[in-house]
Amino acid sequence: MLHADLFIGGAWRPASSGETVSIPDPATGELVGTAALGGVEDARAALAAAQDAFPDWSATPVGERAAILHEAARLIRDERTDEIARTLTLEQGKPLADSRKEIAFACDVIDYYADEAQRVGGDWRPTRQANIRSLVIRQPVGVVVAIVPWNYPIDLLSWKVGPALAAGCTVVAKPATDTPLATAQVVQAYADAGLPPGVLNLVIGRGSVIGDELVGNPISRLVTITGSTETGRHVMRLAADHIKRLSLELGGQTPLIVLDDADLDAVVPAAVRRSYSNMGQICIAVNRIFVADALADAFTDAFAEGTSGLRLGHGLEPDVEYGPLLNEATRQRSVDHVTQAVGAGARLVAGGQIPDGDRYARGWFYEPTVLADVSPEMRVMREETFGPVAAIRRYRSLDEAIAMANDSPYGLAAYVFGRDLERCLYVAERLEAGGVGVNVNDVTELAAPFGGWKESGFGRELGPEGLEHCYELKHIRIRLDLSLP
Ligand code: NAD
Repeated sequence: MLHADLFIGGAWRPASSGETVSIPDPATGELVGTAALGGVEDARAALAAAQDAFPDWSATPVGERAAILHEAARLIRDERTDEIARTLTLEQGKPLADSRKEIAFACDVIDYYADEAQRVGGDWRPTRQANIRSLVIRQPVGVVVAIVPWNYPIDLLSWKVGPALAAGCTVVAKPATDTPLATAQVVQAYADAGLPPGVLNLVIGRGSVIGDELVGNPISRLVTITGSTETGRHVMRLAADHIKRLSLELGGQTPLIVLDDADLDAVVPAAVRRSYSNMGQICIAVNRIFVADALADAFTDAFAEGTSGLRLGHGLEPDVEYGPLLNEATRQRSVDHVTQAVGAGARLVAGGQIPDGDRYARGWFYEPTVLADVSPEMRVMREETFGPVAAIRRYRSLDEAIAMANDSPYGLAAYVFGRDLERCLYVAERLEAGGVGVNVNDVTELAAPFGGWKESGFGRELGPEGLEHCYELKHIRIRLDLSLP
């Protein structure tokens, strides 16, 4: 049986209340592990440990910090991927190959920031007087709280922890209570790589309890959270009390625009993968597909056919491409969105059922679902489903497609597929989103900023931007005595 305790000040310990939380396997409902369920006291202890560790860690030469991070990435990649991937699949449900991919990218991110932080410097600015010098330097912001959701627990941990540690900040990380087990194994790897006590702490507990303490406590100076827009709103209000710096990676409701010259053989598999990968539990999953009138029927048929052969099952089984949803509530949201859309006139073209068979009876499986003839007011077109549901709507003009795509409070990612790159760029420049994929179904790139517009949040991760918010700027203005020789 797997178990995760809290990691505070360099030592694993149970919750001060002794409480634990059970972690089920989303594919079977069976217990796979337990975790300490921390409370406010534990959150405070972790913040205090991070605060105590900050002076030494921030004064450690960046090359030494980087060496520890590289060693952590090496340990995870070369020695522990099998163990961590298996745990991640058991608690989150994604197929083992996807877990391995997630861990590999997490390691790339850690390595990237270990290198990137060594290139960060300050500069001398021009001044208005001959005897004045202006020096601008960057200093680590202090204690960082990293709040991580359950859909990509290992990747998103590294997007937050990698840059913060590299910059010289100390961290209190909080995974979702659904997925703390693989995270604890990753934290152990950081410790084994030589990270001093208190530099990285792990607390597990309810967002409404310890999350509030981590955000509301004045010790933390930056809160970086990936989660729903609702949670982001709440965190923003709490952070206001101390004018706390925030990075908010929130919900999305991603459009994909298919131009009339798109290559169906390319766009269909790309759209299928991005709609259903991780069972659609991705902030940049395709939810709304706008297809040029001339291609709409052919696209809809091919897309529906593309979903029918997908292999669903337990993520540890060989050849499984897609796993279950996280839990009953998550599956029910997909069911509700589909039911509402069909009741309001949408056409169910594929899926829309819990799959048949014993192997699907106990977990939270749901067939990849395609809806056609949807209209803008349907929930599936307005709310984040966070499930395996894609809705197709046809359009007549490019500007109409762009307007429909932008008709959303969210603005995280968008995709456009077409052969004519000029028209693709016309669309890409007009989409209200932090990332646009042109003929590609992913906007994630190690060295490029990832983040949202509008209610998808603010702040950016990955790229140099993901490091920048870990520093405070300081201007040191110096008056010189020019009479000296
Ligand atoms: P969630 O908002 O319920 O939880 C996210 C994290 O916030 C969890 O660790 C949770 O415990 C914590 N939390 C909850 N209440 C809190 C509070 N009051 N104070 C502090 N922390 C609190 O989201 P989820 O269901 O775990 O994840 C799915 C959501 O995350 C979706 O909306 C999805 O779009 C979003 N997401 C966004 C991105 C992005 O990069 N923009 C990436 C992945 C997921």
